[in-house]
Amino acid sequence: RPPQGPQGGAVAGVKNKQNLLDKNRNYTKPWLSGAQSGENQKDVKPDQNSFLYTMYPDGNGPDSELIQMLERDVIDKNPQVSFNDIAELDDAKKILQEAVLLPILMPQYFKGIRRPWKGVLMFGPPGTGKTMLAKAVATQGKTTFFNITSSSISSKWKGESEKLVRILFEMARFYAPTTIFMDEIDAIAGARGGNEHEANRRVKAELLIQMDGVAVVSSAGANENQAEGERMKNVMVLAATNRPWDLDEAFRRRLEKRIYIPLPNELGRKQLFEINLKGIKMAEDTNLDQLVKKTKGYSGADISNVCRDAAMMPMRKKILEGKLSFEQIASLKHDEIDIPITQSDFLDALKNISKSVSKESLDDYAKWMAEFGCV
Ligand code: ADP
Repeated sequence: RPPQGPQGGAVAGVKNKQNLLDKNRNYTKPWLSGAQSGENQKDVKPDQNSFLYTMYPDGNGPDSELIQMLERDVIDKNPQVSFNDIAELDDAKKILQEAVLLPILMPQYFKGIRRPWKGVLMFGPPGTGKTMLAKAVATQGKTTFFNITSSSISSKWKGESEKLVRILFEMARFYAPTTIFMDEIDAIAGARGGNEHEANRRVKAELLIQMDGVAVVSSAGANENQAEGERMKNVMVLAATNRPWDLDEAFRRRLEKRIYIPLPNELGRKQLFEINLKGIKMAEDTNLDQLVKKTKGYSGADISNVCRDAAMMPMRKKILEGKLSFEQIASLKHDEIDIPITQSDFLDALKNISKSVSKESLDDYAKWMAEFGCV
């Protein structure tokens, strides 16, 4: 099945972007005259490099609102996350670089038996860095980052979700190379139940078709005319879930590479403290090794919260000690509240913030990993 346009017809124009971006062409609506056309046109014309402009040069059309929403809410042109910002997870970083980045950078090599994976799934407890990893992949590969959550697909555009999925992939090809990141994929692609809503079923079917379309393009590798080493105009699908066991089997099969993103170990936790506390003043008595031991079972997000809470303690104490009013607090100078954090601040923060992931769910991840995961 050929790529589908927003209205369901095959899109011819996108490959020939240059033709569509002919700046000398005078885009008007000949069927509207004078004042009437003025009234109907939006004052703000779409950016000439945007997908919206390619589809509707004057910014108006049957799906322009949907496209505008996607361009605004889904595309993150500049995610700016480096692999160095992410604590540990060395195995996951290596796998992602090999499975997602190299096929984009070296398309000639990733052909035939070395064809890229159809999709990559990261699974594991919440707050362990899955979203950060996806952004780092997009940043390092200089790809456009599409950040999709179930809410951007389903709730806002109920009834139009199927079309939205089609437009989304068409847009991804337009902005290629693109990394499509689907967070909480279980919410979109959960196992089919007997009483599943028909609309939901159709969205899933469309998503499967689109993911297969992406895979066909990828496995064909670089086309004949593509110069050696040229970046593949490619779309890679990366997904994440905290509930891998809820995934529909059809999606599980397409997400061929399945990587476990675990809770941080001691080394990871130490790095997390260091990353979070970069540039923060620390008192002499702080002992990171003790904190690392005390945070066994904490996720990366939990440790960020502990650091944030501890970093607020000096100001809170000053307010309590001085019985300061709100006005007095607001008038404090930066130097007066930028006080080094002490070990007891961290210990207090640890009392406020406990680990968010249960032991039972860790067992469930281990079981799923043994059955379906990849190393
Ligand atoms: P997930 O997608 O796995 O739920 P995120 O990537 O959104 O988790 O991480 C949430 C927050 O937790 C991040 O913004 C970051 O502050 C922190 N965090 C989690 N894991 C890591 C990590 N490995 N390295 C650095 N920060 C992390």
